Amino acid sequence: MANIEAPVMKNEYYDVAFEDLTHDGLGVAKIDGFPVFVKNGLPGEKAKIKVIKVKKGYGYGRLIELHEQSPDRVAPLCPIYKQCGGCQLQHLSYEGQLRAKQKHVKEVMARIGKLENVIVHPVIGMKDPWRYRNKAQVPVGEREGGLVAGFYQERSHEIIDMDACLIQQEMNDVVVQTVKKICEKYKVPAYNEVAHKGVLRHIMARYGAVTKEVMVVLITRTEELTHKKKIVQEIIDSVPNVKSIIQNINPKKTNVIMGDETKVLWGAEYIYDYIGDIKFAISARSFYQVNPEQTKVLYEKALEYAQLTGEETVIDAYCGIGTISLFLAKKAKKVYGVEVVPEAIEDAKRNAELNGITNVEFAVGEAEAVIPKWHEQGIHADCIVVDPPRKGCDETLLQTIIAMKPKRVVYVSCNPATLARDLRILEDGGYKTLEVQPVDMFPHTAHVESVARLVLKIRA
Ligand code: SAH
Repeated sequence: MANIEAPVMKNEYYDVAFEDLTHDGLGVAKIDGFPVFVKNGLPGEKAKIKVIKVKKGYGYGRLIELHEQSPDRVAPLCPIYKQCGGCQLQHLSYEGQLRAKQKHVKEVMARIGKLENVIVHPVIGMKDPWRYRNKAQVPVGEREGGLVAGFYQERSHEIIDMDACLIQQEMNDVVVQTVKKICEKYKVPAYNEVAHKGVLRHIMARYGAVTKEVMVVLITRTEELTHKKKIVQEIIDSVPNVKSIIQNINPKKTNVIMGDETKVLWGAEYIYDYIGDIKFAISARSFYQVNPEQTKVLYEKALEYAQLTGEETVIDAYCGIGTISLFLAKKAKKVYGVEVVPEAIEDAKRNAELNGITNVEFAVGEAEAVIPKWHEQGIHADCIVVDPPRKGCDETLLQTIIAMKPKRVVYVSCNPATLARDLRILEDGGYKTLEVQPVDMFPHTAHVESVARLVLKIRA
């Protein structure tokens, strides 16, 4: 129910000035102090809006007409930007995006972390902020007997066909288009999520930016796939540098893309890629950073903040497939990695072997359960690196870090709000945040990644 105290009404028009951007890229206008969030509005702009939703304490509006335009406004490069929703900031110049992301991190540090004076560096952006993603997962549907592969229309599950995604590696577009045509030729029925019928759910492409190796994954509802052999052969014949063709079976009625069963239809189970000079095996289901160029920048920053000389013991919490651990291992005496997904730890061990790195040990489990055990066992860490998911670190882990007293903590984060919350806990426990470096891993989207450097304060 609408809040009757709100100074705005649904379906009414208002002339507003945008003051700010939300963390997800919406323009913020205030009407008698009441915040209204509007897609496509930029700070400094004036516009007529229509209020479309009123909630307790805030509302949403639609931009009707721009009266005054921001100098940072640009024409979105992508022809389907408005409908797609995958990017949120294409209407803002890249420079403007980087400034907005830095401002957002700074504000969150002050508001949530009470770290008003912490140094937040300008965001490290990409030279060419397009065509960076190494993984595409495209839903498949049917239209007039043919297949469409693209994205879900906003607020619906109707699939809009898409020829190109400008933040994807070009090869991923080629793979999706090619596989779509091949499956159409062999009359593979697309999955229909309402009826829970049909076969092909998603086409997934993974690309090794350095090795140029391609993986194709067909995500199907059933194991049965008509003309499987012919489809595989045509993919081999028409996708350049394909090294791996995989079928993942997801029989469930769910929004989760992948199912539990994965079969190699042809070629290898993995493709390979490099970050810096470290080689990684990437399987269909393993987590791997989607922007390899900026991942290198991010990891190098983390390594710089860890200040390793070769004598240190380091813990890498939330280590995934061991990417940061292996980066650190080259400069440390010993690295312990911990991660909750067992398959990721198998990959991490394999990746260590692949690179001949022997001074790492990986453990499966929750960081907040495993690291306290290591502490009890007397393992001392000179430096702890954490890279948690969006919800941030578990408080038990933060308290364990405080009790273990490593001289340095490096916090890699994909969510400034939980980063700020956790930095406050570490500050109260005796650490000082020296600097925060945001890195733009996801140009044209509202996401921002940061790495923070903390040191243990010396008590008098
Ligand atoms: N550092 C890696 C992965 C970061 S993503 C990289 O850069 O590639 C965060 C990881 O944390 C995921 O792999 C996720 O599976 C893992 N994770 C989530 N909750 C966890 C927990 N409580 N303990 C340990 N790992 C966890």
